[in-house]
Amino acid sequence: TTQTEQFTVRRSSANSADVAGVIPPTGHFINGSFVPGTSGQSIDVVDPTSEQVIASVQAGTADDVDAAVAAAVGAQKSWGATTPKERADVLNLIANIIESNREAFELIESANTGKPRAVAGDDVTSTIDTFRFMAGASRTLTSMAGGDYATGHTSVILREPVGVVGVITPWNYPLLMAAWKIAPILAAGNSIVIKPSEQTPLSTLKLVEVLAGRIPDGILNVVTGRGRTVGQRLSEHPDVALVALTGSVVSGQAVAETAAKSVKRVHLELGGKAPVVVFPDADLRAAAAGVRNAGFWNAGQDCGAACRVLVHESVAEEFTELLVREVSTLVVGSPEAGDDVEIGPMISLPHFERVKESLAEARAAGLHVAIGGSALDGPGYFIEPTVITDVPAGAPIATHEIFGPVVTVETFSTTEEAITRANESPYGLSASVWTRDSSLSLRVPKQLDFGTVWVNAHLVLACEVPWGGFKGSGYGRDLSLYALDDYSRTKHVMINHGA
Ligand code: NAD
Repeated sequence: TTQTEQFTVRRSSANSADVAGVIPPTGHFINGSFVPGTSGQSIDVVDPTSEQVIASVQAGTADDVDAAVAAAVGAQKSWGATTPKERADVLNLIANIIESNREAFELIESANTGKPRAVAGDDVTSTIDTFRFMAGASRTLTSMAGGDYATGHTSVILREPVGVVGVITPWNYPLLMAAWKIAPILAAGNSIVIKPSEQTPLSTLKLVEVLAGRIPDGILNVVTGRGRTVGQRLSEHPDVALVALTGSVVSGQAVAETAAKSVKRVHLELGGKAPVVVFPDADLRAAAAGVRNAGFWNAGQDCGAACRVLVHESVAEEFTELLVREVSTLVVGSPEAGDDVEIGPMISLPHFERVKESLAEARAAGLHVAIGGSALDGPGYFIEPTVITDVPAGAPIATHEIFGPVVTVETFSTTEEAITRANESPYGLSASVWTRDSSLSLRVPKQLDFGTVWVNAHLVLACEVPWGGFKGSGYGRDLSLYALDDYSRTKHVMINHGA
């Protein structure tokens, strides 16, 4: 049966009022200072909990990008010539400054995205750790000693910065996704022009506000605005050596296409639709609790969300019951309405409408809504935590990215079928496998076409491990030493010393 009236929105009026005092300046940030934009146009920033405008930022232009790139080009020469220790000192300073402004970052992130304070707190903690990890890791990015591969010649292999990197970030983890790019890019000796999502620019602006004057001018520039203008110009600018985007597949394709004209390097972290494969021998309670956490974290607005369960038919009923019970305990509410709030609103009205449309399509297709399934009363773009069961193979709701608090459940009968169905996705970002069988726990991950596969876990990440996709989820890796590698270039010098 469909359970409605299960969830209500717990509210608090504290959030929007508190945030006013910590809103950053809203110009572009170029060469160490906030400057007005050239368009004279602005973009409203909306709190998706209250639906109120909390700030307006500049709608950047190609000219604004050009000014920021010029600053980045100027700053990169001396930044790229610093020692690894000097760069590590700057990254550690950035971590410390963020830590001492933790409260402001949490407030801004919650107000701009609607995410619960606990989730914003987790984002800030991970952001700080990302800078500290990259500070240390950058000191291991050594040039390789070469060898004598031709008589009288000695080779030296150098790792160099690529130069200026254009960064384009999404709205779901605005500060953390910025950190995942900024930390390794600076660590490798590059300078940056970053364009935050036009929907969530505030934490990135706050970051440069607190860093202004404390890190070298021009190594980190921000131009706010839309993808079609600012993102497009970053992708085509001849002095940008590499463009790194976290976002949707469509945006990734646009960036790669534009970047191809100047043979620019591209780093893409795109969408996901993570399958959760539950074998009959799995600890079903742990699997259900895992999906509760990883399917609904950040209200499911997570590219790695555990949103597509494939469960063995023999345990499907028991697992579904456990999952519905778990999901029924989720608390929906505004960020400041209590530490136990776990589900905030969708990021924007258009996204809210898209998620509602997916739910309506599922209903129209006769799928069974086991819990949730509806939008909640406003203000705010809240959707009930939802589980949809008896989903047939290939149903659109199980293959396209919903990016909301919606988990679908399909069943399978053989291991081979589970693997084939899990791989039948345009995405290849992440997946999880739930089993107590040690053979399956290695055999199945090896056959899954995803950049990350968890076994008896989902969404567990650390700065030491690489994050990135296969297939439609893009290429390039965030975090880990692999990210540092992506943001540097290899040069071979062969010296004829005549010996
Ligand atoms: P989006 O693609 O709409 O926007 C992302 C960024 O790209 C924004 O800054 C936007 O302005 C910019 N952009 C849009 N069109 C552009 C263009 N033509 N040229 C240059 N830039 C352009 O994505 P979103 O809605 O902000 O974020 C949600 C998407 O991001 C989801 O698909 C999600 O899976 C993905 N995501 C992936 C990861 C990951 O690590 N793989 C992490 C978070 C989000």
